[in-house]
Amino acid sequence: MKIHEYQGKAILKSFDVPVQDGEVIDSPDQAEAAIERVQQRFHSPAVVVKAQIHAGGRGKGGGVKYSPTKEKALEHVRNILGSTLVTHQTGPKGQRVRKVYITQALDIAHEYYAALTLDRSRGKHVFMVSTEGGVDIESVAANTPEKIAKIWIDPLVGMKPFQARILANALHLQGDQLKRAMSIFLNMYRCYEETDASLVEINPLVKTEQGDIVALDAKFNFDDNALFRHPDIVEMRDLFEEDPTEVEAGKYHLNYIKLDGNVGCMVNGAGLAMATMDIIKLSGGEPANFLDVGGAANVETVKNGFKIILSDEHVRAILINIFGGIVRCDRVANGVIQAVKELELTVPVVVRLEGTNAEQAKDILARSGVQIIPADNMKDAAEKVVAAANQNQGE
Ligand code: GDP
Ligand code: MN
Repeated sequence: MKIHEYQGKAILKSFDVPVQDGEVIDSPDQAEAAIERVQQRFHSPAVVVKAQIHAGGRGKGGGVKYSPTKEKALEHVRNILGSTLVTHQTGPKGQRVRKVYITQALDIAHEYYAALTLDRSRGKHVFMVSTEGGVDIESVAANTPEKIAKIWIDPLVGMKPFQARILANALHLQGDQLKRAMSIFLNMYRCYEETDASLVEINPLVKTEQGDIVALDAKFNFDDNALFRHPDIVEMRDLFEEDPTEVEAGKYHLNYIKLDGNVGCMVNGAGLAMATMDIIKLSGGEPANFLDVGGAANVETVKNGFKIILSDEHVRAILINIFGGIVRCDRVANGVIQAVKELELTVPVVVRLEGTNAEQAKDILARSGVQIIPADNMKDAAEKVVAAANQNQGE
């Protein structure tokens, strides 16, 4: 799960990391009062207007505006709030801006990068910092990897002050600033651990002209499997920022990821779902989604699965690929028939059932009178569904 910058900063603040602070608004009526409060609180006429969307690159996309006066700030709020912001991370469709963050404006002396994430290959957390903050860290990593300093943290041992010192030294910080950066890094680690984050990224972490070290931006990803421990973080979820079909699928406990093709897939088990997508591609088709209906493939899950798949208008044919282990194929077959009848499906459906009671299932499907294309094995199923999708696409 992801959150907005303003939410990330509130979390960082609660872990004693200094942030570029401000107020968030979601309507233009609130703008003037909010701007005035931020101006007064930070004793400066200048503020920054920042679009709140779950994508980076807002600065380059025109979603972050330094505003020297209240009038300029109001103008920027009017332009940004409600607009559709396109950045290199939103894709060409962009993302609608529903919230704007009005923050204090800082005089920046230098922009650094700091991030914590999991390094699966080492089984440790990795803390990365760079003197090249504010820009795409991906291009720094590609072109000048020596400008990124890393330390690895054993999760059982935790982060030690000497490690924070190595990082602060890598940023060539000294004296007071070195101490501040060290405490920020240790607090960041505490924050990352205690919130079960899978990413905490501050880009940029800035040194101000006054010598303060401050988080100017905040990006968090959380481990979904740990969210049950963090009701306060779950509260921060913004469904407008997520794919609506994926949100809907989540309600039915279906694991659904939307993709770009036209062959809908309904499969039980993530491994089989991956294999199904592979074989569709091998047969010259493109999967429209990943969908794992889980262990219990009954009438309800099959119906919900169909609904989710069909909410994607690009779908031209559906492949149901179920292995009956615990779930019996004859029951799945009955579920499919009932669902097809009730939903009055208009796209061809190819069904491949294997495992317990597979023979009975084939009989049931054949006798049902419902328009279903039976398949004998995965290859056969993939070829049939790709052919059906192509034909349907042409019509
Ligand atoms: P992102 O582009 O989505 O990562 O948004 P950021 O919050 O990182 O802001 C982008 C850039 O805007 C930063 O790298 C800064 O260069 C600039 N910026 C943001 N706030 C301020 C500020 O208070 N003062 C100055 N001078 N620049 C700022
Ligand atoms: Mn940033």
